[in-house]
Formats: sequence, C-alpha cells, structure tokens
Amino acid sequence: MKTMKAIVFHGFGDPSVLKYESVEVPMLSSHEVLVRVRACALNHLDIWVREGLGDVSKPHILGSDVSGVIEAVGSEMKDLEKGQSVLISPGISCGYCEACLTGRDHLCPRYTILGKGIWGGYAEFVKVPRQNILPYPQNLSFEEAACMPLTYLTAWQMLVQKAKIKPGDWVLVLAAGSGIGVAAIQIANLFGARVIATASNKTKLQKAQRLGAEFAINYLEKDFSKEVKDITKGRGVDLVVEHTGAQTWEKSILSAKWGGTIVTCGATSGSEGKTNLAHVYFRQIQILGSTMGSKGTLFEILRHIEAGKLKPVVDKVFPLKEAAQAHQKMMLREQFGKLVLVP
Ligand SMILES: [Zn+2]
Repeated sequence: MKTMKAIVFHGFGDPSVLKYESVEVPMLSSHEVLVRVRACALNHLDIWVREGLGDVSKPHILGSDVSGVIEAVGSEMKDLEKGQSVLISPGISCGYCEACLTGRDHLCPRYTILGKGIWGGYAEFVKVPRQNILPYPQNLSFEEAACMPLTYLTAWQMLVQKAKIKPGDWVLVLAAGSGIGVAAIQIANLFGARVIATASNKTKLQKAQRLGAEFAINYLEKDFSKEVKDITKGRGVDLVVEHTGAQTWEKSILSAKWGGTIVTCGATSGSEGKTNLAHVYFRQIQILGSTMGSKGTLFEILRHIEAGKLKPVVDKVFPLKEAAQAHQKMMLREQFGKLVLVP
C-alpha cells in the first residue's frame, strides 16, 4: 500500500495533538480525483475541528483550502489529466437533494467541508469528488491560490449575495488582518463601497489601508462604534461584516445605520453576543447568518481573481511538518492574511 506524509490527529486538543506521520494514500472510486497537494491554507475552522467541533472520526487530517496537481483520476473521469494544476472547492455535498439540484449545495442536509467531514489537505495527497475540482487561476502561485476558496467564497456570499452590497455603501470590516477581513475589504472595493476596517495594531491598520480601507480603527485603543459614528457623521454603516462574535457584537449593532445590515459568518471570540432587541426592531436592523456559499459561486469569484481585481494575501508559508506552529500563530492573531502549509 502506498503511503504519504500528513499531519494527523488521533484525539482533540491543543496544537500539540497535530502529528507528522505516514498514512495510507486514499483509494479512488470512479468519480473521484487524487490531487498532489502543493499548498494548503489554514482557516479558523481548523482550530475548531482540532478542538472538537462536530462529528470527526479519528485519525483525522485537517485542511480545507488546497491547490495542487492532479495525480490520478477515477475510471469514469475523462476530462481531467494527470499533471494538471487545480484548485479545490472545499464544500462537500450529496449532489442529488433539492438544495444541491437548485444550486444551493451549501444548504444540503449532508453538507460538510473538506478537512472537517472528510480528510483534508494537511498531507501530500488529498482525494475529492470530481465536482470539487476548479480550474486553476493562472496568475496566482500555488500558495496564493490555496488562500482563495473558503475565505473568498464565504466573504462573497456575505457581502454580495446576502447583504447585496452596492456602490457608495459604507462597510465596516472587523479584524481586517483575518482571511475574511482581507477578502471582505477587496470585495467591498470591487463593488465601489467605502470601507472602515478594524485591527489590533499599527502595522495591521496600515496594511488594511493599503489594501483599500478608507479608514482604519485600532479596536483595542478606541470604541469602534463611536469612531464609526464620527466617520459617517452620525449615520452608521450600511453593512457590518461580523465574524468575531462575543467581543464585538454589541458594538457591531451600534455601528449599523437605521435599516442597516449585520452579516455574520463566525464567532472567533465566542458565540454568545449580547443583543439589545430594541436596537434591532426600533432601528430596523437586519441580522443575517452566512456560511460558505454554493460551489458555482467560486467560478464567478475566480474570474475577478484572474482579472486581478481580487488578490489573496499570504502572510507566511510553513513547511507541512510545522503545522502546530502555524496553528499557534493563528491563535495569537498575529497574521495579516493567510498562513499556508507546503508539503
Ligand atoms: Zn445535497
């Protein structure tokens, strides 16, 4: 049996549970593709899964965002060839339910994510269904390409499909240095919106402004909801991009304009935010939940990537065997952009 190197965990816990080991290369069925991983980007999801979120059978391999080269194709796959560069779409769904067949595969009752429900890309090889193979964006390195699928898909559904962003909107993007923050700033710019970003230090604030934020607020030093009111002359923002949760939630509600929208895709600081309902009904705020997006949406995003309008930001590349160090860095929120593993 052929083996590969991978970062495997046998029990939940802190980054020290991540072990560099040899495991069997996954066997292919007729409609699957085996990809030699060239780069795999980290997401906050990796921390949650490692700590015990959801139903994960062990041993398990993390990693949702993968770029690589086709190593082998299932017997029924005639349109792909060994050696082709590809990007992997991370959403895994059944392909035959009502949600899947109406292009809303991220609402499939059997939906899961590469590296959560099935073995992911912290490995030399990863196996995925044919429908998860995306064309490769020619203008990106493998490291840059791996930063794209999960974060840009998530941010795109939040801003474009859920909140219906439009030119001239004021958009507040929390935690500008995170993967979602970077993608949200770029997408808001693409749609001609005006961005206010928050971050925790001067370097990150400068990077957020270079990326396209018109204003940047240090949320550790200042009450960002008050700053937002000052910047918008008391009006508040049209749209708040929330993904930090407990620590920021009350201020996010205060930052939205009357009739504004808060869209949330995560809660990295805790999932129990305090909500003053009077603000929600009296100021008629919309609160929208969002996770991932449909596989088809990634084709649209890839066109903007290839046109150079959206560009993933790599903070640091680690050798695969240093996955635990990469997790530690992400937990300290030190990065601006994505952390990437390379086998
Ligand atoms: Zn389905």
